[in-house]
Amino acid sequence: MAVENETALVLFSGGQDSATCLAWALDRFARVETIGFDYGQRHLVELSCRENFRAGLGRLRPGWAARLGEDHIVDLGVLGAMSQTALTREVEMAMGAEGLPNTFVPGRNLIFLTFAAALAYRRGLKHIVTGVCETDYSGYPDCRDDTIKALQVAINLGMERRFVLHTPLMWIDKAETFALAERLGGPRLVDLIVEETHTCYVGTRDTRHEWGYGCGQCPACELRAAGFARFRRR
Ligand code: ZN
Repeated sequence: MAVENETALVLFSGGQDSATCLAWALDRFARVETIGFDYGQRHLVELSCRENFRAGLGRLRPGWAARLGEDHIVDLGVLGAMSQTALTREVEMAMGAEGLPNTFVPGRNLIFLTFAAALAYRRGLKHIVTGVCETDYSGYPDCRDDTIKALQVAINLGMERRFVLHTPLMWIDKAETFALAERLGGPRLVDLIVEETHTCYVGTRDTRHEWGYGCGQCPACELRAAGFARFRRR
């Protein structure tokens, strides 16, 4: 695949989706930087997976190591302070009245992408990559394709730029996300994603399943486990 001679900024949380997006960007762009947000997640385990995964990608493909640039961590503690959700407080996960799980942090992706664009503006980058997906998401309205398209227009108008918001996972499910990783980096990339990424809402890493670490019970674990099983059956 031809590499565009441009730099991309990948929103990289340390979860399966953003990790796959990072490999996707390294396969496509001449240089790739990453941005992560610390907003007082109950469990910082996702953020601490990030360095291991970045290092693992570099070992997987020397060409990727050469393209992988700076990592930026942005402190968004104010977002956690404003949100009463199961991701940022010690509360049980449940479904809310609007049909949204209480893991929903209102406006989180809007805020993340706006901050990513502000960083991209400062660094002169055009491409912003995010792992949002409307196929088997938890109903988060800020993961929808229309939301991202509208935000791209708003950001470009508001910052007088021509940013492109890439969403390579928008129309694929978790099984197809594993398959995409296999196409990009072979079975070793799938192994790296299983071993070094984290999506569990509870943040536990003491149990290793064939699909990775996690409680095995929360919605994120259920999605990942079911996706991995379908991927293996292909
Ligand atoms: Zn879990």
